[in-house]
Amino acid sequence: MKRNLSNSSICTSKLTMLRRGCLGRIEKGVKCTVSSCSREAVRSISADKVKGAGLSVSGSENRAYICKEHYKEYKKKTKKDKTLDKWRHG
Ligand SMILES: [Zn+2]
Repeated sequence: MKRNLSNSSICTSKLTMLRRGCLGRIEKGVKCTVSSCSREAVRSISADKVKGAGLSVSGSENRAYICKEHYKEYKKKTKKDKTLDKWRHG
């Protein structure tokens, strides 16, 4: 009798799925890059976008990591921007 329980291959496909679906997700333990904030980050967003939302990002990386609270703030600000965009484009 041959057992066909290949755990390693299951793990590999799971990892691949995680990698494919990890857009916007970040590793655990990464801290929020917004200055004067030290909470754990939950999202990674382009630093330009974060700055555009009025949040000050420390460091000169293209990517900013933001915590739950700052993500809320960011979303609020970008919502307004989207509304403006709609206006602009008619
Ligand atoms: Zn934060």
